[in-house]
Amino acid sequence: MTRYIDVTDLSKLVQVKGVLPCLAEMAEYIHEDYLRWADFEKCARLANHSPDGVIELMPISDAALYAFKYVNGHPKNTLNGMLTVMAFGALSDVETGAPLLLSEMTLITAIRTAATSALAARYMARPNSRRMALIGNGSQSEFQALAFYHLLGIDQVHIYDIDPAATTKLAANLRAWTGITVHIADSVAEAVRGADVVTTVTADKTYATILTPDMIEPGMHLNAVGGDCPGKTEIHRDIVERARVVVEYEPQSRVEGEIQQLPADSPVTHLWEVINGQASGRESAAQITLFDSVGFALEDYSALRYVLDVAKVLNIGSDIQLVPHLENPKDLFSLLMTDIAAKRKPKIQHQR
Ligand code: NAD
Repeated sequence: MTRYIDVTDLSKLVQVKGVLPCLAEMAEYIHEDYLRWADFEKCARLANHSPDGVIELMPISDAALYAFKYVNGHPKNTLNGMLTVMAFGALSDVETGAPLLLSEMTLITAIRTAATSALAARYMARPNSRRMALIGNGSQSEFQALAFYHLLGIDQVHIYDIDPAATTKLAANLRAWTGITVHIADSVAEAVRGADVVTTVTADKTYATILTPDMIEPGMHLNAVGGDCPGKTEIHRDIVERARVVVEYEPQSRVEGEIQQLPADSPVTHLWEVINGQASGRESAAQITLFDSVGFALEDYSALRYVLDVAKVLNIGSDIQLVPHLENPKDLFSLLMTDIAAKRKPKIQHQR
């Protein structure tokens, strides 16, 4: 049987565990899996583009488990009452191919993205960072703020969005968390001034320049989350050129990340190298560091692994027959026989 977790189940799982423990524990799973980077069969995600969006498939496996996520990115969706990013995915047993978990992944994506951002910032931001600017106040933003609050100690957020209603929503949601002080800014520049960490998580299918060189102060850590597609960036090229750039998986980031603006041989460091100590995330207090996040399949693998473990312990979700289980595995046709036999019966009786 396959464990099935729908949106209601996942919301329940996160509420029973608590969103902060979920962020911390998912970050731990992601950390564990980045430490064994070489164990994974990896590829850049497969993206099908349309004028207003993209639909992507993200597969990955190790010797035990195979994971994939289906995810879209349609920045104009919110105008029609739909989410910009929606996702679902599965985890399977590599030895047999049997699906173990089929799950919603929209909420999971927000949690795993924020957990990954905070994990990267642990190695890249200056120690004792307290203040974060958060530009783009849509669906992902609460999760980013809470991950940085819980995992990094950020207790002040300065928030800005071109849509004031999104900012009001974020402020109201965050003010329920007494540990975070929220300041609403009138511009990106105002939000960014004096920040230790700057998170950009905007949605627009264009070469945007949310951050320009004049806004950048020595030692800032930039967590660029919203630029994750060809032709969709957030950071001015001069900043990217000047920063120490850390990416998840170079073949994918070269096409989708902020570094799509730079020559193909521009220097980058991999997150796994930083996590396992082969490279440093930051080389000096004054250095500008940039986590060029696009979202990598390994993070979804870790997230699905986490959700299955927790769902089993808390007995959340249902077991469904997603694939057939047969008495005779060579007799797939038997699935149709009960129905056929039932339909035939009256006919035979009639002939008598
Ligand atoms: P959303 O549509 O809910 O929110 C995006 C917000 O950005 C909106 O409120 C919009 O008004 C704001 N915005 C757009 N242009 C802006 C600008 N110039 N200045 C300030 N604000 C601006 O989307 P979401 O689900 O929060 O996702 C945000 C982005 O993050 C998307 O681009 C998505 O593709 C990306 N994302 C990346 C990852 C990753 O792993 N890197 C994961 C999930 C989502």
